[in-house]
Amino acid sequence: MRLAIILTFTFIQLAACGQSKSKHKPSNMSNDDSTKIVKTDAEWKSQLSAEQYRVLREKGTERPFTGQFYLHKERGVYVCAACGNELFTSDMKFDSHCGWPSFDKEIAGGKIKTELDTTHGMIRTEIMCGKCGSHLGHLFDDGPTETGMRYCVNSVSLDFKKQ
Ligand code: FE
Repeated sequence: MRLAIILTFTFIQLAACGQSKSKHKPSNMSNDDSTKIVKTDAEWKSQLSAEQYRVLREKGTERPFTGQFYLHKERGVYVCAACGNELFTSDMKFDSHCGWPSFDKEIAGGKIKTELDTTHGMIRTEIMCGKCGSHLGHLFDDGPTETGMRYCVNSVSLDFKKQ
């Protein structure tokens, strides 16, 4: 009898443990879409404007304070201009005064990939679309919000879906 009680108690504990684990998984994985988009340069060229191609595919940078989303305040989701991958929400945007749209975090689920960028005599972290590999901007750890991060993104690399 005592054994049965102990076994039952152990089972309940295990079940509760399993439940709490599975509770966390979906919220973490819900945005995960690992399908990669691979296109030739010619295909990207025909799909994108000359300026988009220069920034997104040739790692260019738009002139500061000129981009359409720098002072943009509408509520919605910012997506990759090349493939539509959802990258940031308007809640993640903050006024950085640096000349480019800035965000303090990304939408979870591997939406963005990073790489070390040592060009132009600087050591920076480049951010790219995790789905199509297009250049977005750079990531800095000098953000003013509690995340401490500043995703500095070219407007040209973004499209906006109004909420
Ligand atoms: Fe993309």
